[in-house]
Amino acid sequence: MDSNCIFCRIIAGDIPSSKVYEDEYVYAFRDINPQAPVHILVCPKEHIACADAVNAENSVHVAKIFEAIAKIAKAEGLTNGYRVINNCGEDGGQTVMHLHFHIIGGIKLGEKIL
Ligand code: AMP
Ligand code: ZN
Repeated sequence: MDSNCIFCRIIAGDIPSSKVYEDEYVYAFRDINPQAPVHILVCPKEHIACADAVNAENSVHVAKIFEAIAKIAKAEGLTNGYRVINNCGEDGGQTVMHLHFHIIGGIKLGEKIL
């Protein structure tokens, strides 16, 4: 828990969130500024700053995130697909330095990212 980290504080319950899923490893909640009908952020409960900080010691948290993503997508009715996005670091457009994956769905997305 990093008390300076907004997502650690959300996971700890100090800041309210619209929670959609939680287990031993993972916490997921709706993005406050949704870019699509379904826009959910899936985070490890452990503070990992970004994708670049994933290593052999902490990668179990990433595996658990992807197990959770499949469950959340089913629960949200995203039967025809969705997009998973991770922004990493300054050039990647990451604004909150606690690893998170965006689930974007509920609309037909184009093939291009940029
Ligand atoms: P990123 O740019 O990948 O770091 O994404 C950060 C995301 O966190 C943005 O889409 C924000 O809208 C979202 N966000 C920031 N603060 C909150 C909050 N308190 N509750 C829910 N989503 C948030
Ligand atoms: Zn954190």
